[in-house]
Amino acid sequence: MTAAPAGSGVVVVKVGGSEGIDYDAVCQDVAALHAEGRRLVLVHGGSAETNRVAEALGHPPRFVTSPSGFTSRFTDRATLEIFEMVYCGKMNKGLVERLQRLGVDAVGLSGLDGRIFEGRHKTSVRSVEDGKTVILRGDHTGTVERVNDRLLRLLMEHGYLPVLTPPGASFEGVAINVDGDRAAAAVATALGAEALVLLSNVPGLLRDFPDEASLIRAIPAGAVEDYLEVAQGRMKKKVLGAAEAVAGGVGRVIFGDARGAEPVRRALAGEGTIVS
Ligand code: ADP
Repeated sequence: MTAAPAGSGVVVVKVGGSEGIDYDAVCQDVAALHAEGRRLVLVHGGSAETNRVAEALGHPPRFVTSPSGFTSRFTDRATLEIFEMVYCGKMNKGLVERLQRLGVDAVGLSGLDGRIFEGRHKTSVRSVEDGKTVILRGDHTGTVERVNDRLLRLLMEHGYLPVLTPPGASFEGVAINVDGDRAAAAVATALGAEALVLLSNVPGLLRDFPDEASLIRAIPAGAVEDYLEVAQGRMKKKVLGAAEAVAGGVGRVIFGDARGAEPVRRALAGEGTIVS
């Protein structure tokens, strides 16, 4: 296999963890692009599966909404361990296995490995409950502030395709739950990627969710934050990630649909919502 030169034409693909995502289609598409000499990094989520496993283990998920309206998973130690089982285990190895079967030498790593995703540990979180703000302690979350791009470049230069997943590492080496979309944005920025493709189970950013006919086709880079209002729930993190990536110099960010064939190729060809 001949690898393309370092730093050029990297595409970072983030595939979410929502119901309806066709992981086989994502892997087939990633494998085909890799075979064409594209340099790719795959970042994935696993929220729906984590919720199922957490329920089954008798430790149901708890979501908190911050005073500024962002929703996140409250991650106590037990939740972190379940999260690792699903994200680093079932989800990560499931994607690596699919890619290996397709002839791609995929290497699955969490953000903890080699401190690929590194950031500050937030031990408490403010949550709005019944109109009142409460503080929850014992949280294991953080925001990616630094990416070990050296390790990623090393892998890609030798033809390996990194498959990355939260958690990340705190500066003290503690595992922290980090947002996958914003982690993918940080990876794309660190690698100077030409594109960041954020795949989920919707056609893109919808002006009037869930009306799929209200797809927003294009967002100018300078105006991304204006669209935070349009996005609800977890979609807000994607919009924030997109804003961070374009501000960080990533060529374009595309919100694409992972429910059909060739989701990455379709997004790169202009389907979905393009931020550039
Ligand atoms: P994933 O885990 O696949 O990355 P998320 O659950 O984080 O997905 O975010 C995608 C979800 O955001 C969609 O499934 C949809 O339910 C929700 N959503 C909220 N507001 C919007 C919007 N304006 N446009 C599109 N999706 C939205």
